[in-house]
Amino acid sequence: MDDADAAVIAAAEQHVKECLSAALLPRPTDCLACYLHRAVDRWGCDGKLTLTHEWQGHQRRMRRRTGGLTAYLKSRGGYCDCEVLMNVYPDREPDDNPQSARCPHPYQ
Ligand SMILES: [Zn+2]
Ligand SMILES: [Zn+2]
Repeated sequence: MDDADAAVIAAAEQHVKECLSAALLPRPTDCLACYLHRAVDRWGCDGKLTLTHEWQGHQRRMRRRTGGLTAYLKSRGGYCDCEVLMNVYPDREPDDNPQSARCPHPYQ
């Protein structure tokens, strides 16, 4: 195999990897719980509500109101992204179907 072949194969492998990880990317159109499931899986919790605030930013761009969300989450024991999942949405099963455009839950 010469160098040109090796380069083509390497590029193809890279493409497959990118496609696979795209299926696992958090979808900001999902509800907060499903978004956090994916986002915490991928980036981990940093002990704050960083990913929750990111989701809120996406909602704002789609003109969805999320006012008072942080206060609501904290009142239920969600002081960081993984606590939100554990304490606020313990019963919400994440939607892991990469084919669907968004999960079937209400937004919050
Ligand atoms: Zn959901
Ligand atoms: Zn955490």
